This record gives sequence, C-alpha cells and structure tokens, in this order.
Amino acid sequence: MKNRRTFLKLSALSTAAIAIKPLQSLGKTSFIYNTKTNKPIVLSTWRFGLEANAAAWEVLKTGGRSLDAVEAGVRVPEGDPAERSVGYGGRPDRDGRVTLDACIMDEFSNIGSVACLEYIKHPISVARAVMEKTPHVMLVGEGALQFALAQGFRKENLLVEESEKEWKEWLKTTQYKPLANIENHDTIGMVAMDANGNLSGACTTSGMAFKMHGRVGDSPIIGAGLYVDNEVGAATATGQGEEVIRTAGSYLVVELMRQGKTPETACKEAVERIVKLQQRRNKNLKDIQIGFIALNKQGQYGAYCLQSGFNYAVYDTQGGNRLLDAAYYLKG
Ligand code: ASP
Repeated sequence: MKNRRTFLKLSALSTAAIAIKPLQSLGKTSFIYNTKTNKPIVLSTWRFGLEANAAAWEVLKTGGRSLDAVEAGVRVPEGDPAERSVGYGGRPDRDGRVTLDACIMDEFSNIGSVACLEYIKHPISVARAVMEKTPHVMLVGEGALQFALAQGFRKENLLVEESEKEWKEWLKTTQYKPLANIENHDTIGMVAMDANGNLSGACTTSGMAFKMHGRVGDSPIIGAGLYVDNEVGAATATGQGEEVIRTAGSYLVVELMRQGKTPETACKEAVERIVKLQQRRNKNLKDIQIGFIALNKQGQYGAYCLQSGFNYAVYDTQGGNRLLDAAYYLKG
C-alpha cells in the first residue's frame, strides 16, 4: 500500500469560484452572485484513477456525456492485466475463479449492474448493457454471463499468471478462509460531471481477493458502491464492501450533500457512521479500509477514508489531472 502514498499532498477540497456578474434590469445595473460550476470534472479512486480519468477526459473535453466518460474511464484498469484488483488480471476468489462486480448510473437515474460475472473483461460495459437493453437493473453469475455472450461480449480467461501464483501461495497458509485486509482489494469508482452539468458514475472491481465463491461486495450495489443524484451529486466507495453495504454508504454520502454538507464532510460523516457501527459490533477498525469520494452539482469534490493510504485522482480544467491523498480517520 506504500506505493499508493507517495503522492501529492494537496487539499482535498476544491472550491467553486464565485463570480459576480452585472445584470441589466429595468435600466439599472444591479449585481447577482453566481456560483460558477466547476465542469467538466471527473474523479476516481486510487492511483489507477489517473489513467482512467485521462480516458474519461477525452470524452468530457469535447462536450461528451458523463455516462460515456465514466464507462470509457473505468475500462482502462479493467483491461489492464497489471491492475490486479479490477477486471482482466483481477485476483481470484478462494476457488481460483475471477468473479467481477460492476455498476453504472446516469443522470436520469438509469442503473445497470452485474455481480459475480466470470470470463468477461469489461463488466462495466455489461452493466451498461443491462441498463440499456433489459427491463432489469442487475444480473448475476451464470445469467449475467449468458446475457453478456448474447450481447456479443467475448469469453476470455481472466486469470493471469501473477494472480494465480499469489492465490496458490495464499492457499498454503490461510486455512482456506477468505482474507480481508487493506492490502488485497481495490476498486475503481468514478464519478463525473459533463459540460452540460449532468452527473454519472461507474464502479468496477474483482472484489476482495480470495473471497468465498459467490461473495458480492458493495461495488455492483447501487446505493452502496455508487450513487448518483443529478440534482445533488454523486459518490462512490472502495474498501471493505460489507461495511459499505451495511451503511448504504454512497447513498448516505449523497444524502448528506443534499443536506448541504460539502463533499469531504459528507464522506467523513459516512466513514464515521461505519466507525460507530464497527465499534458497536466490537470489530477492529484497523482490519479494514474504507474510502469514499464525492462530487457535488457545483463541481466541488472531496474524499475521506478510514486509515491513511487512500488516494484519488481528480481531473478538471482548473487543475488538470492530479492525485490527492484523502484525509483519514485513524491517526497513529
Ligand atoms: N469494495 C470492494 C469489495 O468489497 C473492494 C475494494 O474496494 O477494494 O468488493
């Protein structure tokens, strides 16, 4: 996780510029305060968010739709065999099977999701197809695979040599229990606002490494791993999916922004909610990581996580593409 820490330390909060514009009304000059929206903008989880943002930006900079941007963005780590927590190359479950989870949501609250999908390199595009081509919002396992194949997606082996090696090592020492720690799971969650001010999000992962076969985390669950409300903002999560599901984490972040919280404060309160529930259940906080990122309708953004080491990438016209460290709860 160290390699994820050595990045720019910049403020996690951006501020939308306040512009004062003269208004000609009834022959008099008066003034109104306009909050200038910071758009287009895209943000995504972890260091691989930089490359993903760059692909999303190609869509956004030419006035494209945020939905197309987030799909194009997260396909980058999905297709990269060196990224071993997402898509092709993802670490397998405890049975040695690579099972993928993904979901997508647009400005109209259209949603699509797949869970426990095997053999398909780009689960996010299957999730989008579920959204656009079926009367349903979620397909899982064999049914999701059948649907993907019927849509023309190609069946491929997703288990790369490195991941297989790691899994075999893990089998030797783990007494065949699913392993949950902060080192072996990462997800790309991405939220974006396009030049028209419309929000979308995407989230995709191979989930917790060496999980039980059939285990589904937060990432394909709308409201948990991702939520978008085009009137308010969007949020996405990474980390221990069970805890994010327990708190409907991304939905919670968006609802807190609806109450007027800044993106960072909303993320912080969602993390604190998880802390409280962990404590109530006598669970050790140090065993898990949780990270949220959020974007509001003004183009302000922020993030917060449970323990240090979570970073996220932001791309906007003001600052270009950069990696930021999220503020965190557990000090020392
Ligand atoms: N949230 C994902 C899951 O629990 C894993 C991660 O973000 O690292 O499946």
